[in-house]
Amino acid sequence: MTTKKIKHAGRFGAGYGKRIRIKLNEVESKQRKKQECPLCKGTLKREAQGIWKCKKCLKKIAGGTYTFK
Ligand SMILES: [Zn+2]
Repeated sequence: MTTKKIKHAGRFGAGYGKRIRIKLNEVESKQRKKQECPLCKGTLKREAQGIWKCKKCLKKIAGGTYTFK
């Protein structure tokens, strides 16, 4: 997993605002993408933070907090 943590997150001061907002938009669009089950290629649904559940094989998979990798 190569999730980059944004420094200064939570402190959106002047100068950082624009860039961080772009970065957040990227993250949000990734969240909206459907995640694919690595076992059966079914659709994964985020059940809890870091936990994904496959709609097809019903397996629970631990993944990233927001996106499955
Ligand atoms: Zn599956």
